[in-house]
Amino acid sequence: MNNERKSIFITGAASGIGRATTRLFAGKGWFVGMADVNADGLDALEAEIGSNNCDKVQLDVSDRSAYQAALDRFAGKTGGRLDVLFNNAGIAFGTLFSETDFENIERMIQINLMGVIIGIHAAYPMLKQTPGSLCFTTSSASAILGVPGLATYSATKHAVKGLTESLSVEFMHDDIRAADTIPGSIDTAMQTDETKENLPDTGMWRMIPAENVAEAVWASYHDKSGKLHWYVPEELLKLEAIVAADVEKARDGSAKYFKAETK
Ligand code: NAD
Repeated sequence: MNNERKSIFITGAASGIGRATTRLFAGKGWFVGMADVNADGLDALEAEIGSNNCDKVQLDVSDRSAYQAALDRFAGKTGGRLDVLFNNAGIAFGTLFSETDFENIERMIQINLMGVIIGIHAAYPMLKQTPGSLCFTTSSASAILGVPGLATYSATKHAVKGLTESLSVEFMHDDIRAADTIPGSIDTAMQTDETKENLPDTGMWRMIPAENVAEAVWASYHDKSGKLHWYVPEELLKLEAIVAADVEKARDGSAKYFKAETK
């Protein structure tokens, strides 16, 4: 039982943003539930942070009964305590909608959207019984303006951003906060080598280390202002302002860029 320690349950923990967040919270003395489909990645992370500091589970977040079983097992280790649920697992297929296999479209929806909904629904009782808890989700800059070549991915990330906004109000009555992160270009396995090479060195689309997103999760847990969306980098807020002021103009700018990119 670790109910004296704060605890966080992280999906997609074996790599990238999830791994960086696991390292950060474990380093601060938290007990970490690490969930991922990648068992080897979880083994390596457990060896690094120590089995006393974590509980690893091989989990496909789109499997509702498996997600519930993983949380039940985690509750057994923490005495029912869950200070942060970090629904972070996600996948992307960077292909035109018309050329994407329907199975891959469904898979993105199952993992990026249903996996988040399943996790929050299952974790709600634990969050409710833990004072000051946080329900945190990984959205994306593609939830600011839908990105051509990432249509279904963008749709799922818009959906989880909206989910956070709704729940941040509903959960107020339960002393649960809801927030998300809106990352831009993060240096993880999700970015192809080609994309990495083509990113600018400066500005909102520059490559950012996964550790910066982990720090946003940490800051969100300790935040007292009620901040909803954690932009990484914060310059992405400028894009929100451009889209809010004139979405057609923003769309036309995206179309020009996309045309140039696909020439
Ligand atoms: P990543 O590929 O390094 O990590 C994703 C992890 O999720 C992997 O360990 C993978 O095994 C795991 N995963 C995939 N399907 C799963 C499933 N069904 N169940 C459980 N785990 C599963 O990529 P990342 O960049 O760290 O991605 C984390 C999140 O950040 C994703 O939701 C992604 O959409 C989002 N995001 C990434 C970027 C970026 O530029 N890398 C930008 C915005 C948002």
